[in-house]
Amino acid sequence: MTRIAIIGAGPSGMAQLRAFQSAKAKGQQVPEIVCFEKQNDWGGLWNYTWRTGVDQYGNSVHGSMYRYLWSNGPKEALEFADYTFDEHFKKPIASYPPRAVLWDYIKGRVEKAGVKDQVRFNSSVNQVDFDDGTQLFTVQVCDHINDQTYTEQFDYVVVASGHFSTPKTPEYEGFDIFNGRILHAHDFRDAVQFKDKTILIVGSSYSAEDVGSQCYKYGAKQIYSCYRSQPMGYKWPKNWTEKHQLVRVDENSAYFADGTSARVDAIILCTGYLHHFPYMAENLCLKTHNCLYPQNLYQGVVWEQNPKLFYLGMQDQWYTFNMFDAQAWYVRDIIMGKIVLPDAETMQAHSNSWHLREQKLKNSEQMVRFQGEYIRQLIDATDYPSFNIDAVNEVFMQWKKHKKDNIMAFRDKTYRSVMTGKMSKPHHTPWLYALDDSLEAYLQTGNQEQKAM
Ligand code: FAD
Ligand code: NAP
Repeated sequence: MTRIAIIGAGPSGMAQLRAFQSAKAKGQQVPEIVCFEKQNDWGGLWNYTWRTGVDQYGNSVHGSMYRYLWSNGPKEALEFADYTFDEHFKKPIASYPPRAVLWDYIKGRVEKAGVKDQVRFNSSVNQVDFDDGTQLFTVQVCDHINDQTYTEQFDYVVVASGHFSTPKTPEYEGFDIFNGRILHAHDFRDAVQFKDKTILIVGSSYSAEDVGSQCYKYGAKQIYSCYRSQPMGYKWPKNWTEKHQLVRVDENSAYFADGTSARVDAIILCTGYLHHFPYMAENLCLKTHNCLYPQNLYQGVVWEQNPKLFYLGMQDQWYTFNMFDAQAWYVRDIIMGKIVLPDAETMQAHSNSWHLREQKLKNSEQMVRFQGEYIRQLIDATDYPSFNIDAVNEVFMQWKKHKKDNIMAFRDKTYRSVMTGKMSKPHHTPWLYALDDSLEAYLQTGNQEQKAM
């Protein structure tokens, strides 16, 4: 029987499991699937861990999420087309759920599908090789529970191990003598640790914006953020100052390109992540920066040099969960022979044309539409329930506007579900005052007045 290895049981790997199960539910014969997950539960980044550095087995910790993290985009932009929020929660909920609520949602779909027995937890993939003679992959796995390493062979491999876990850590002059704490966003776990502190955020993308906002919400005294190319440019609260490039630090202070300086207690590097696949043989290893159309991947998923290998979710992400679905259904149909791939040259020409289109994108609106168009193509090729991509693009446009209007209140806005046509419900407490991010607190009804700390 054809065997498929999926590496990682985060949202992308879970989408792949669900894609095959949906074909099986329609009476089709599907291959044998083994999903290897190094953590003890599924959900990927959404499965929160307090650990930083290495885990209990000596592996690098995958988690980059922190306590009090809420969705940074509306749930209406990421909703599964085959499993709505209404179906899961059985009542309308607000548009920006906290992490635990989204984790519950993504788990709900695959629990319903009954695919958990296909996942081997506490199992790290250490090495993947391909044999040209046998046309099989050899996957070496460490079973951490039994402390045993073994190998198995597979016809296909789907890499779904994410790309927001290996921190990109630039070094600035003076970091070695700075007296305070220097950490990367990957190791940031709890904004309360920075209450009454003056912090410097390096970077100007989503982590910078959200880690800084968390620190503001939980009582940081003063926030400085500094950008390399583009300022975030939001209307920040009074105690948040955006500076140009960091030049150097000394024991207590940071010095910026505009000649100013500031005393800071801690520095948080929100400088992004590396695509890192240490377990892949060199000739199978994706090398890319964080972009919308990584090269060498036909349709954003097929490893062109060996189309028995697939990568899911490797794009920079406006769209997330429903993009992973579109990709997973597409990969399933290649493996099941329903989609026939063109020759290598045609695949390369196709992905090069998308890559060139990406280079010409000028603003976030164009980027959203580009990614929407990519997803539309994939969905048109499979039986994934089609949905109105233009309407989702518009949700993203509203989201951008709401952030511009008020960066500390955009999460209080509501949007209409593209899947159900229903409007979401305002949350019982404005985001800035909702200090408890648990599932239970979120799903409570009525006014939960929570006092800001
Ligand atoms: P991941 O979620 O990273 O899952 C990969 C899985 O692979 C993990 O379970 C990991 O343990 C496993 N794995 C890795 N290596 C191995 C190995 N060698 N062997 C076995 N298993 C392995 N998206 C949104 O839509 N909304 C948000 O609000 C949002 N917030 C985010 C906040 C942060 C701080 C970050 C970093 C990302 C956020 N994202 C958000 C984007 C996020 O990337 C996606 O939502 C999603 O988690 C990606 O799913 P994935 O399965 O591709 O990767
Ligand atoms: P990112 O989007 O890749 O941004 C990296 C940032 O680091 C950019 O601003 C970049 O600046 C800067 N940078 C890189 N190298 C630098 C250097 N040497 N010096 C100074 N600045 C440098 O990464 P991210 O912000 O970590 O976001 C990753 C993902 O996490 C996104 O998908 C995001 O949505 C998600 N996320 C979500 C939440 C949430 O609220 N739910 C919170 C955090 C993150 P340049 O522009 O100059 O390159």
